[in-house]
Amino acid sequence: MNILVTGGAGFIGSHLCRTLLDEGHEVVVLDDLSTGTYQNLEGIEDGRRLRLIVDSVNNAQLVDQCVREADYVYHLASAVGVRLIIDQPVRTIESIVGGTENVLKSCARYRRPFLLTSTSEVYGKGSKVPFTEDDDTVMGPTSTRRWSYACAKALDEFLALAYWVESRLPVTVVRLFNTVGPRQTGQYGMVIPSFVMQALQGKPITVYGDGTQSRCFAHVKDVVGALNALRDCKAAHGQVMNIGNDQEITIMELARKVKEMTGSASEIQLVPYSEAYGAGFDDMHRRVPNLAKIRSLIGYQPTQSLEDILRDVIAEKRAKL
Ligand code: UDP
Repeated sequence: MNILVTGGAGFIGSHLCRTLLDEGHEVVVLDDLSTGTYQNLEGIEDGRRLRLIVDSVNNAQLVDQCVREADYVYHLASAVGVRLIIDQPVRTIESIVGGTENVLKSCARYRRPFLLTSTSEVYGKGSKVPFTEDDDTVMGPTSTRRWSYACAKALDEFLALAYWVESRLPVTVVRLFNTVGPRQTGQYGMVIPSFVMQALQGKPITVYGDGTQSRCFAHVKDVVGALNALRDCKAAHGQVMNIGNDQEITIMELARKVKEMTGSASEIQLVPYSEAYGAGFDDMHRRVPNLAKIRSLIGYQPTQSLEDILRDVIAEKRAKL
């Protein structure tokens, strides 16, 4: 197949591209290299089986051309990372809402199957454990910038599902929970690469808040396996599915584990949210995915534990340093 991957030079996108190439597909990556990097694709860009086009999904004409030539579209291009979302709210909203609108319009025009990577942020401040796809979303106020990301992604989901309802365009929506692995940078706030770099450099490991908040971390290998399998899953059309890992850990425990696995002498330092993200920041206390739906559709089962993830990330960051 000819597969278009928007955001293919990003962390998850670059892993997906490698899998698609391994399976014999031809891949076109549309990426503006804003948070993605050329280095993520280094060694696999050959101009023939993987072609990189450096531009934005906000360029409607180019998007249209790329979609017309594709047999399948993975739409991963998006602003990412809590840090960046807070620092660049206009870019966040415009790229997520405008970009997805462009890609979907062209997919509808040429009847191309479309997969949207949405996010667990869409559940917002809901306190349910675990989160199931049809649960209510609980957003904070529009004055708190973090929620612009969740609202913009929710609008993307509405739009994709609307195309399915109105014209049976084959759309698949996945909500990715915290995804981690080699090539993820801590630059935009993601906790595991940040902690690992701090530990390896002997700097304080910065736990925000009191560290009792928890997350579930999935290895990018498992997530990409699911994205790949969903391409052939007709039963997933018009559906929203969680993808992640349901092994939960508090951020304080995570900091201790990183310290232990790196053999670091770094101290663990508590940093108030206001200092980390500015005033008026809302964090989610717990975020656990219910994986029953994706399991029933493609037999999804995470194969990588948190220890596997940390081992891979530590090895990569060590090599880099
Ligand atoms: N976090 C932290 N220290 C850091 C970066 C993040 O304690 O240096 C916390 C953050 O406040 C959140 C959790 O780790 O509670 C996960 O943050 P991340 O930005 O990786 O993902 P999120 O789940 O918030 O989207």
